[in-house]
Amino acid sequence: MSYSHAIYCQQIGLKTLGFDPGPADGLDGQKTKAALYDSLVSRFGSKTEARRSDGSRPPRPKGTAADKSRIFGAAGSPSMALFVPPYEMTYFGAKVSKIGCHALIAKPLEDALKEIADKGEEWIKKHGLDLYAGCFNHRKSRSGNALSDHSWAIAIDLNQDANGNKHTWRSGAKADNGTYEMPPVAIKIFKKHGFQVGFLQSDGTRRDMMHIAYVDRP
Ligand SMILES: [Zn+2]
Repeated sequence: MSYSHAIYCQQIGLKTLGFDPGPADGLDGQKTKAALYDSLVSRFGSKTEARRSDGSRPPRPKGTAADKSRIFGAAGSPSMALFVPPYEMTYFGAKVSKIGCHALIAKPLEDALKEIADKGEEWIKKHGLDLYAGCFNHRKSRSGNALSDHSWAIAIDLNQDANGNKHTWRSGAKADNGTYEMPPVAIKIFKKHGFQVGFLQSDGTRRDMMHIAYVDRP
């Protein structure tokens, strides 16, 4: 192991943050590695999130208002970012020129939609993934009194007619609007980028599969 000035600076930084990397000797030993890992866990809230983090994603909040506000700021006034959707989308018939969401999730959301775009227009239309139904909306959740993820602009809705909140998700089923319900391939893509799709019910079924949220929930 030889001296690295980057490691030396990291050790000084870790000490400043209150973690103990051992002596600042510029050597990437066990104590330095452990201190770096502890600082990641402290920043990202859990070991899972720390392992997953590449620095481009914010930590995922638990489903509580307190945790969402801890990471994303107060509900109702999120710091927004805009990006051009990577494939053609409509919002209740009108073409979507920009998607607006919380600035911290813009990158992972855009990355997920780019992967959806790679599946091709035919597949996207078949599943109604071009039917955008909004992101920021300061309101209570449809299922209860708590504020919705939309109040922090950390969720989008896609194809709401086929994936409603009172509707039990049936993978592969065709909905009344002629599209198919949320496909497992799309769910997998969103998940990979930190998003969870729909809500798990106590009987093991899922609902509200239009709802794609940057929240750590089952
Ligand atoms: Zn929603």
